[in-house]
Amino acid sequence: MKNKTTKPERRFHNWRLIVLFGAFLVILINPFLNFYFHINFVQGWYQSLGIGKLWFVSPLEGLESILVSKLVYMPLLIGMVIPVLIAIFLGRVFCAWACPISFLSELSDSAIKFLKGRKRRKDFFTLSKRLLWFALMGELLLTMILGAPIFVFLSPPGLVGREIMMAVFFKTLAVEGVIVLLVLLLNLVTRRFYCRYLCPLGALLAFIGSKRRLSLVINTAECKECGLCDMACPLGLKPSIGEGRSPYCWNCGECVDSCQQDAIKFQWKEITDH
Ligand code: SF4
Ligand code: SF4
Repeated sequence: MKNKTTKPERRFHNWRLIVLFGAFLVILINPFLNFYFHINFVQGWYQSLGIGKLWFVSPLEGLESILVSKLVYMPLLIGMVIPVLIAIFLGRVFCAWACPISFLSELSDSAIKFLKGRKRRKDFFTLSKRLLWFALMGELLLTMILGAPIFVFLSPPGLVGREIMMAVFFKTLAVEGVIVLLVLLLNLVTRRFYCRYLCPLGALLAFIGSKRRLSLVINTAECKECGLCDMACPLGLKPSIGEGRSPYCWNCGECVDSCQQDAIKFQWKEITDH
């Protein structure tokens, strides 16, 4: 019988770090392959990534391009299909499992833990989760008013890939890269501050995935209301009261790992379930 009082292994956490690291390696190594070895099988970064004949376009950058050009360019739409389908079925998983900002945030978290030896960092203040929707609406509105795809140029996840590309191809860095540093610094105030409240891409993926098939269920008979899962959530959600089913949840699994009673699990909702 399973001993429910031992410290749980951090299964999802460890897998997520491996996947995040792998996703980061793609955008880190690829410019070197392109530039020094002329191996162009993979091109670009997570705003627009070509793998062989497949082309993936970030849904927000794709939407911005359509709004600005007022043209629906078919290859662009096709490039958005797979990321949109992933979000429809799995929600905001790009954020937790692939985004370079998440990877760098995990890295800086580990550095802080190592230096300060603190187990869990506090959020110094929190805001309304709904801010995320305003970030998306504001960004799209500004794009239309200015007639320029702002997120294409200034998205922190995109900037990580662009800065690596600039460093390899042009031996320089763009000044906008400072935005990435600011995003990481904000983590010191509130865990994943930018991802919680400000990222329009995270908001769009959350919106697309609001009726996602994969989400969390809590077994109330097993739950001891200890609050460990709520403390573990990097987005400040309360999975103990069902916020793991909200659009904001990015299915990272930290709350599942933290529960010593195994009371929280991922569940695949069938199309017929409501
Ligand atoms: S919210 Fe934005 S920056 Fe944060 S992980 Fe998602 S895409 Fe990346
Ligand atoms: S509720 Fe759980 S799975 Fe969702 S973001 Fe929070 S810790 Fe991750």
